[in-house]
Parts: sequence; structure tokens; C-alpha cells
Amino acid sequence: MAVFALVDCNNFYVSCERVFDPRLEGKPVIVLSNNDGCAVARSNEVKQLDIRMGAPVFKEKDKIRRYGIQVLSSNYALYGDMSQRVVQVLSGFCPDMEVYSIDESFLDLSHMGGQNLTALGRRIGATVKKHTGIPVSVGIAQTKTLAKIAGRIAKKSARTQGVLDLSETRYHDRALEITEVEDIWGVGRRYAKFLRVYGITNARELRDADAAFIRKKMGINGLRLIEELKGRSCYPLDSNPLPKKNITVSRSFGRVVGCLDELREAMTSYATRGSEKLRSEKLVAGVMAVFLMTDRFRPERFYYHTETVRLSVPTNNSPEIIRGALSCLESIYKEGCLYKKAGIFFHELGSESMAQRGLFDTVDRERSSRLMDSLDRINASMGKDTLRYASSGLSATRTWPTVFNHRSPAWTTRWDQLPLVR
Ligand SMILES: [Mg+2]
Repeated sequence: MAVFALVDCNNFYVSCERVFDPRLEGKPVIVLSNNDGCAVARSNEVKQLDIRMGAPVFKEKDKIRRYGIQVLSSNYALYGDMSQRVVQVLSGFCPDMEVYSIDESFLDLSHMGGQNLTALGRRIGATVKKHTGIPVSVGIAQTKTLAKIAGRIAKKSARTQGVLDLSETRYHDRALEITEVEDIWGVGRRYAKFLRVYGITNARELRDADAAFIRKKMGINGLRLIEELKGRSCYPLDSNPLPKKNITVSRSFGRVVGCLDELREAMTSYATRGSEKLRSEKLVAGVMAVFLMTDRFRPERFYYHTETVRLSVPTNNSPEIIRGALSCLESIYKEGCLYKKAGIFFHELGSESMAQRGLFDTVDRERSSRLMDSLDRINASMGKDTLRYASSGLSATRTWPTVFNHRSPAWTTRWDQLPLVR
């Protein structure tokens, strides 16, 4: 039987800040996005004051003064580094893991049968706290979707003391009942609305819904969701229902890769794919993070490294994102390591139309956005990769991408990276 744990750092950015400034402990703290002055992280004290995620800070001035809320700019170099330390600690417990976002990882505990998993969860939490200073919640269950639900409850309910094992509890149905349908992993706002119209308001009702009906309305992913809620795993590590809050592009390589040039090709292709994803959802990203990971089945030489950059202006422009991704890659690449996986995360997503122009922005955004449009159109009508970036690799004998099916559209501002037309 499959068993997964979701390890989620509590109020991650705020917790990172508290590690290095203990005066913030117990005080209300908000971390801001630089560009638009919105709250991107809130301490529990702030959540209780009903200041929402993404709230523009100028609208909350009164509360900030009245309650003495500490307001901090985000420090992604710090968060990226702390994230890496947490992952390093987790890898000691279970090398078989998926780093899902900057503050969440899934561990596959399927082969740890016979252990008391709640006790294991507590050991994980205590060790992460001791070695990094970051508090975490741990949700354990037979599927990733249920582990997410367990983790959410573990975080909110003091009684769980941060760990809930749903695979081993008589409160299983109760846990599903108190999980609103919009809080289920993989249920978007649109589907949540639709499900409510049909009287499905929580995870238990969705689990017990008529599968044929859900399949007809939500497709195969809806069916998978029901299966997952029933405890039958459909998403192994590295396979997820569409993430909504951040966009991630990552793949395991067909073989280990040690050469920087090959990693650059892979990273260019992810960055391109990521920019396409952003554009197709009319989003821009304010922050991106690149990571490299060695073979997780060889924990003695396990290496996970990440580099995060704030983009000077939130963007979905391929050349800008590729440039940023490649410079991140170069700063974390270690010679002699054999990498098994790499990827890119986008954070602080905002709508394209709301994107603010930076004061020192030198890019002609109108023009570059028209260019991206034409690229996407050409690739849509003539086939993926009709136009692509030269840095994603031009030779027909690229050996790393055996598992990437996404060669992406491309354009560049550099002579050595001109788009090719096949
Ligand atoms: Mg978290």
C-alpha cells in the first residue's frame, strides 16, 4: 500500500525571518512582495487579524499601526537557502521525495511499513526544527491528495501537534467533511463553484459522488481525484494535478547529467515551457527559482541546490526568463555532481494586465509581448518547437531529453541564439 507524507513549512517566509530575528517571535509579521506592495506571507497573528493573502499593504495601514504589525520586504536569497536546508534534512529520513514548492515536499513512505508513522512524522518535525529553526506540519495518508488534506488539518488543529496520519485514524471521514471543496488539491476555483452548484461542498461529498457524473463533467482528472480521496493513489511522486498557486516545470532526466552545457539546454527548455505556461494563463511571475538535484536514491551524495531571483519587473517574456534561469543555474552548478533532475518554480504570480512597469524598465513591453504572441501562434499552428531557442540545443543527437517532450517555441536577442525554422 502506498503511503505519502506532505511536509509543509508553516508560514514559511515569516518563519525564515524569525530564525534570524527572534524578536519577531510571537509578533504579527507580514512579508511583502517588493513590486506591488502586497502581503505574500503572514504570521498566524496576522491571519487572525483577517488580513488576506495578497492584500495591498496600503489598504491595511490602520491595522498595521494599531496592532504593531512588523512589515518586511521579501528576502528570497534567504528563503531559497532555508528551503534547501529543510530539503537536506528531509532527505536523511527518506531519500525518495519530491520537492513540490519552496516550502513543501512529498515523501514516499510506502516502504516504511510497520513503523508508527505519527511518531516518524514527529521525529521529522522535531529534526527539521532543530537543524533549521523552521516549524513544519506533516500530513500522512495513502495518497498525495489525502496527505495534503491531512497536512492542512495538522497545521490548523493544535490537538494534532503538527502531525496527522489519516491512514490510521477513525476520524478519516470527519477530516474529509471539514475540508471544503475549494481547499482540495487540484480543484480549481472554477470546478469548486460548479461542484457547489451540484451540492458537493466538501471532500467527503466529492469522494462519494457519482463517478460517471464527475468523469463527464471534470474529465479523467476528476475521476483521479475521487480515486485519490478513496485512498487509491493515482499520483506518484513527481506527478500532480495542475498546480494553481505556483507554476513549476521540472523533469527527471533520462540518465544522470554532469555537464553544464547539457544542463543549460535542459534549463532553457524548462524556462521556455514555463514562460509559455505563464502566457497561456495570462500571468506574469515576480520571482523565479531554479533547482538542481542529484539522484535521490543515493542519499550519501545527495545534493539539492536552489537559487532564487526576483525579476526586475514581473514578466512572462521568454528571453528574460531564460536569461534569469541560466544565470541561476550557473551559480548553483557544482562540477563533479551527477544530476538526476532539474526544474524551475515561478512565484508571486500576477495577472498580465496588472503588471506594473518598473521605473528602470528598459524593455519595450508592448513590442515584446506582441512578439511572444506571434511565437506562440506559430508554434501552435505549425507544431511545438517550430521556433525555439538555440540554447535549448540544436543538434539532433541531444541525449539528455529522452524524457522531455517539450521542445519549446523560441526567439532571442542574441546572434548566437537565433531562432531556427525547420
Ligand atoms: Mg507552507
